[in-house]
Amino acid sequence: MAQSKGRFGAFGGQYIPETLMNAVEELDQAYLRWKDDPGFNEELSVLFNEYANRPSRLYYARKMTEDLGGAKIYLKREDLNFTGAHKVNNVLGQALLAKKMGKTRLIAETGAGQHGVATATAAALFGMECVVFMGKVDVERQALNVYKMRLLGAKVVPVTSGTATLKDAVSEAMREWTNRVSDTHYCLGSVMGPHPFPTIVRDFQAVISRETKQQILKREGRLPDAVLACVGGGSNAIGSFYHFIDDKDVRLIGCEAAGRGIDTFETAATVNTGRLGIFHGMKSLFCQNEYGQIAPVYSISAGLDYPGIGPEHAWLHSIGRAEYVPVTDEEAVQAFEYMSRMEGIIPAIESAHAVAHALKIAPQMSPDQIMVITISGRGDKDCAAVARYRGEEIEG
Ligand SMILES: *Cc1c(COP(=O)(O)O)cnc(C)c1O
Repeated sequence: MAQSKGRFGAFGGQYIPETLMNAVEELDQAYLRWKDDPGFNEELSVLFNEYANRPSRLYYARKMTEDLGGAKIYLKREDLNFTGAHKVNNVLGQALLAKKMGKTRLIAETGAGQHGVATATAAALFGMECVVFMGKVDVERQALNVYKMRLLGAKVVPVTSGTATLKDAVSEAMREWTNRVSDTHYCLGSVMGPHPFPTIVRDFQAVISRETKQQILKREGRLPDAVLACVGGGSNAIGSFYHFIDDKDVRLIGCEAAGRGIDTFETAATVNTGRLGIFHGMKSLFCQNEYGQIAPVYSISAGLDYPGIGPEHAWLHSIGRAEYVPVTDEEAVQAFEYMSRMEGIIPAIESAHAVAHALKIAPQMSPDQIMVITISGRGDKDCAAVARYRGEEIEG
């Protein structure tokens, strides 16, 4: 059922069955009630600072800057957050909201397991029950994260429908939420799904650009010329862009996973290869086959292989405010290796997609220009996959 709520231009909305309407409506009301509440925001900011290690650093990458010989490069270090990525920002916000709503149980979907681990962490912290839906294929591929979730006290439910991957886990979590809304909050992991999720997740991730803006103004006395971030569903990117959207001179660049290339079927570059569609409760851009079915997607990065993109990104793209560029596996792996050697920072393979595009455009920019790259997470989890890509088998 389509509604005008939560629209970003022609995108977004609430395309959900009647049975899910109550849950979504209750969440919408609760969010409106709490989002500007000073007590709520104070509690969240204490959690951010004392538990998640915020504010995250804005680090001047001197060696990279000198090596590339163009724009001055800063890294927004979300990899230094507790649990190793930006996901904790959203999860702490939603867990606190769920607590205010009187919920005692968190459910979540997860692909690679990063969002599942973050949700299980918040559930442990808040003393809540936690159930994570995960495609059976992913459960088998991501044994370490499955172990971590269980260690943190969560139950992991393998999903066998469809392709048994992330998109099926989302569908299953929505079904579970419909069945048990009384005590359960669905902690969705990116800026996607029906309204109000794209707005809620964006607001909690917007802490990234709120800090970046203060930090760069303090350090350089001016705004950056470009902000780069990788895009899966789009939460770290929208968080990195949000407080710069009205600053028209700041280029906003989302880096999509092109997998083996946008001219192949093994890609996850939604803006560059997708079309308008409706899926998981939202109108947005999706990778589709010729019949309009959601296409299987591929990327070396498990965190970027979602077949859609958040509706606010689809809108920013449609009005030309943000650019979305494809980055292949090979380019991301090279950037992963480059940043490790150059700065001693091993980025998540997702984040390496943004670094890869920076390697292309920084040399074309002038030394008095400034670029900020969001490093959405740390790369320890990716070492085995990158080694395998290079033909080497290691443990882990
Ligand atoms: C999950 C994840 C992403 C992709 O999710 P977005 O919602 O697009 O931010 C990117 N980087 C890391 C490190 C992740 O864990």
